[in-house]
Order: sequence, then C-alpha cells, then structure tokens
Amino acid sequence: MERRRESGARLSSKTTNFPGREITGEDVEAEKYLTIAYGSDLKYSWTAGVGISRYLDGLKNGVLWARKCRGCGRTLIPPRMYCEECFRPTDEWVKVRDTGKVNTFSIVYVNTDASRRKKPILVSIVEIDGASPEMGILHLLGEVAPKDVTVGMKVKAVWKPKGQRTGAITDIVHFKPV
Ligand SMILES: [Zn+2]
Repeated sequence: MERRRESGARLSSKTTNFPGREITGEDVEAEKYLTIAYGSDLKYSWTAGVGISRYLDGLKNGVLWARKCRGCGRTLIPPRMYCEECFRPTDEWVKVRDTGKVNTFSIVYVNTDASRRKKPILVSIVEIDGASPEMGILHLLGEVAPKDVTVGMKVKAVWKPKGQRTGAITDIVHFKPV
C-alpha cells in the first residue's frame, strides 16, 4: 500500500513508503507529543572591517582617518583598504582635517516616514580637506539657513563632547560654515 503525506505528495517516484507516522498539526494541538518551549539567547558580534573600524575609532577621538593609495595618489575617505581604481591594496593611513567644502546638498522637508517637516534638514556631501577632490562624506549641515547654503561653501565639523562620542559618524553633529 502506498502511503502519502497529508498533502498527497509522495516522497519520491521510487520511494513511496514513509517509515513511522507523520506528525500532524492536530496531533500537536491535541498534545499527543511532548513539546518544549525554548527561547534562544543569541549574541552577535559584528566587525566593521579594518578600514572602517579605524575610521570609527578615529571619530570617537575627534580625528578623521583616510587611506592613501600610491598607485593613483588618491587619499580615500571614508578609508578603504582596497583601491577600486587601481585594483590593489591601499598603502598608508593619513589624518585629514575636519574641514571641507560642500560638494552637493539637499534641503529635506520630509522625515523618513514621509511625514512633512516644518524645519528642513540639510543633507550634504562634504569634500574633506586633505582627501582627494570629490572624496567626501555624507553628513548634515547646521548653523546655517537653507537659503545661505552654496556648493563650494567652506565648512567645519562640529563634534559632540568627547564623553558623548560612541565611535559613530554621528560623533560629528553636523558641519557648519567657517
Ligand atoms: Zn589607487
């Protein structure tokens, strides 16, 4: 006699007999089987990688680290351990300044949930002084009216107090005009 699952499906075209008895949802609900409730307590650790780890550690200490490639001569920020232009590992760590200029910006009137903001936020790519041209980081502009922001405007990082920094890009509150 051929045995089938409740769905009617066979195990395979050659194997049609299942050993034992299939547990059904009704059996479980009727508590025909011993069940054990088990909550897992999993902990994860995650690494940001060699380049970004040093970058984040630098932010905690009020320093911007970049990575230099001798192949193309570029200074990369955020730092990368591999140069995507030269297809080779980058060569050395360099500190860059916490000043720069606005490469591009947006005046944002919506929140992440699409609700409207009364006061806009200013989001910018800031080209960092000491890094290569067009090498910049995405951050907020502050202490400036939206109408006064211009491409090329010189800005400087406003850091959180040392004790409040956590090794995140938000250790810089925003960039303000200089
Ligand atoms: Zn390169």
